[in-house]
Order: sequence, then C-alpha cells, then structure tokens
Amino acid sequence: MTPRPPKEKRHSPSAIKTFDQCPKQWEFRYRIKPPIEKKIGPPLILGNAVHSVLEQTMALPPAQRTVPAAQDLLRKVWPTIEGRGDAFAGRDEEKQWGEKGLGILQAYSETPDWEATPVELESWATLPLPGGSELFGKIDRVDSFEDGLEIIDYKTGKCRIEPDGLDKDIGAQVYAVAAEHTWKKPVKRVRFIFLEAGVDRVWEPEEDLEDLRELLADEVDMIESTTEFETRTSRLCDWCDYQAMCPAFAAV
Ligand code: SF4
Repeated sequence: MTPRPPKEKRHSPSAIKTFDQCPKQWEFRYRIKPPIEKKIGPPLILGNAVHSVLEQTMALPPAQRTVPAAQDLLRKVWPTIEGRGDAFAGRDEEKQWGEKGLGILQAYSETPDWEATPVELESWATLPLPGGSELFGKIDRVDSFEDGLEIIDYKTGKCRIEPDGLDKDIGAQVYAVAAEHTWKKPVKRVRFIFLEAGVDRVWEPEEDLEDLRELLADEVDMIESTTEFETRTSRLCDWCDYQAMCPAFAAV
C-alpha cells in the first residue's frame, strides 16, 4: 500500500471551501490549530444522527428496510451523538429537531432511493496529486449502474445550490475525481440529496476529468504555497470559531 502524504498535504473539500471563504480561517483551523471551544448546534446533531441512521439502514437489503425501524434507530443514535448535551436550548427545542429527523426518514422512505443497493457506504475516496499531495473525501453512498458510478451526498440543511450549479461545488468536484481514481470506474453522476426539502442537485461530469484534476491541483498548489493568510470578512464571521483571535473580527 502506498503511504499517505503528511496531514498538511491532504486536502478535503471542506478545507478547500474554508480557504476560498477566508484564508485566515483556514490558517487557524488547519495550521495554527489553537485550542477552542467548538460551537455545536442543532443542525450538526441532526445531520450526524440522520447520516448514521441512513448508513445503517441502507446497508440492509431493501426488503428489510422499514420506516419504524429507521425511526427507532434514530431514537437510539440521537443520545450518542457527540456534543448533543449542550447543543439545544432546552427539551422543547431538542424535541423539535428530533421530530424533524423522524420526518426526514419518513419522507426519504417514499422515494425510489429507498430501494437502492449501494456498493459503498461512508467510504473514503482519495486522489494523489503531482508533488505528493492528495485530495480526499468521505462519500456517503455510492450506487453502481451499467454506465458508471453515482456518488451520493446526503444534506440535512437548506439547499443553496442553483438547479444547474452542482458542477461548481468543490465537494462534488473532489468526490468525482477521487471516486473515479479510488474505484477505477467512471463517475456518471454526482447527486446531492437535500433530505428536508426533498430536492436533488445532479451533475453529470464530462467523460474526461483531466481538466478538473488540473484545476484542483492548481488550487491545492496555491493553498500550499500561501504564506500570508488574508482575512476575508463576510456574514460567515458570525459562525466562525476563531472570532476571539481574528484581527478583523472586531471591525465586522
Ligand atoms: S472572523 Fe471572519 S475574517 Fe476572521 S477568521 Fe473568521 S471568517 Fe475569517
């Protein structure tokens, strides 16, 4: 097995997205790594719980999947999610988010997806880059069809991607190139499923992903060669874990 590159040369979609939004935040999160109290809110608890239930449910043969079993699993998984104890303002708020999760599972069971037979669940995909770097991502589900792989990412938040905009999403791009390399099959579709809204965003990549690989390799080069990390203030500063140490936050 080829050894993986050191951590500073491995790049996930969320790290690249962080750099694009604010290089200073990237520096805090991936270089300096100061001890911070991480804010965990209800959306993260819901997302982690639903992902865990779908992973376990979709591992079963389709005939064995039932809504009551999936919902019971959510009730079991929920108290085990890290950070859940401090995430909610009170029992009523937690109940509302739990009910949202139960509703998501009910609604998803009514889609054709419920009958899918995945070939991968919560699996890591990687792509080595020239210069010893690597792109990697954890893929929620991979379905295999005659014409290639379908890469699936579950989302429990709001859909902010335009109907034809998934090709510009860094996560979708990394999943496509890394999945093709890892499973040695063409990626025919990348699909983000927004579970609460009940909408999908679909991208069918070009047959040859070489241009995209080069684009991502250039982006990684740029991140690795950066020595001065600019602050880029935006509405995202309100949720930034590094406000207290950011030179620009006081001015926001
Ligand atoms: S507070 Fe805003 S400008 Fe500062 S690091 Fe965070 S996101 Fe960047």
